[in-house]
Amino acid sequence: MNAVGQGGADREGVPEVSGTEGRIGRYYTLPGRRPTRTVMCGGIPVGGGAPVSIQSMTNTDTRDVKATASQVAALAAAGCDIVRCAVPDESAAVALKGIRAELAARGVRVPLVADIHFDHRLAIAAIENGADKIRINPGNIGGDDRLRAVVERARAAGVPIRVGVNGGSIEKDIAAEYGGPTAEALAESALRNIDRVASGGFEDIVVSVKSSDVRVCGETLHLLSERTDFPLHLGVTEAGVGDRALVKSAVGIGALLEDGIGDTIRVSLTGDPLREIYSARDILASVGLLPGAIDVISCPTCGRCKIDLPRIAEAVWEAVSEIETERVVAERRESFAECAELYRRDKAREYRPGQESFTVAVMGCAVNGPGEASRADIGVACGNGVAVLFKEGVKIATFADSDIVPRLIAEVSDTLGSPGGSIASS
Ligand code: SF4
Repeated sequence: MNAVGQGGADREGVPEVSGTEGRIGRYYTLPGRRPTRTVMCGGIPVGGGAPVSIQSMTNTDTRDVKATASQVAALAAAGCDIVRCAVPDESAAVALKGIRAELAARGVRVPLVADIHFDHRLAIAAIENGADKIRINPGNIGGDDRLRAVVERARAAGVPIRVGVNGGSIEKDIAAEYGGPTAEALAESALRNIDRVASGGFEDIVVSVKSSDVRVCGETLHLLSERTDFPLHLGVTEAGVGDRALVKSAVGIGALLEDGIGDTIRVSLTGDPLREIYSARDILASVGLLPGAIDVISCPTCGRCKIDLPRIAEAVWEAVSEIETERVVAERRESFAECAELYRRDKAREYRPGQESFTVAVMGCAVNGPGEASRADIGVACGNGVAVLFKEGVKIATFADSDIVPRLIAEVSDTLGSPGGSIASS
């Protein structure tokens, strides 16, 4: 291994690049976001300039307290901020209390949302058993008197309500007027149901409108963002399986976030909900809304590449994503706590995000590699059997390409002061 300082000789045929101009790092930014009011969900502020929260839903039987608490804990450890559980019957509503106790025993604090359909008594039971938020579709919960009973119980308990509307729940008169579940019809239905919930002065409302059609979803959320300032929950429902499902969510959610719309997101994927969290993090990181993110960029490779870059890049990404998880979880905990405190002092809009993102580059050759690697916070450009390590634009070392993964990860860990340092030495 040859340590090469700034301006050191290029002994392995990799062009000299130094300096910090044109660095790749992106900043975590909120400017341009559509202003919404803040709704507190447990200890997590939603809307009002708070970081975009990540949600998921357990797929265990909620009545199985241990299994559900374990899944909730795993989701929270991966960066999920709010977890929803299905409450199909009274036993599931009662189980929420047990899940909460089990989580407390494990030192896990994460808001639990009760997902209710059809029976307003389940919504009330969920609130009585400690739900931090309830998700209802006012269109299928019963008449106004039943809805009012739920809203009054939520108000007394300080529990917000997520008003959910989808293509299948549009009222007949609205569907007839707009000719089906169009964006206008969905928005109209959502606004009608918001009015029903808010009519007695209840304001702790988060709104979600879902469609499996990405364009309808987007148009609806745009319409709603112009007509209400309640926080908006983004998601493409029934996205499906595999890469197509993920891309649908990334396009649907990402495009809205880029337009400044959206306060909380759920990526719906069939299967293990943990994947939803990693995907949500990737979407937020891609639009510069994930404080603590570590971006790993790598070249697509071409005929100039003489090393197994896909394997190296994959190994780097795996190790870095562990470091990122710790960073992101810690950063989010701090950011939400700060936002919640500002909200208590009626100064929610004074929140300013802190941490910038961090970029790690893994490039395959000495032609384009050094330029890209030197513009990242930490980057490596591979030559023929050797690799050159750059930090903040300065070449700091050369070593055999067999050392790329441990050297790069060690440098990332040292730079970020992450407990992930143990990863590098293992
Ligand atoms: S960095 Fe080199 S190996 Fe990678 S795509 Fe560009 S030219 Fe090809």
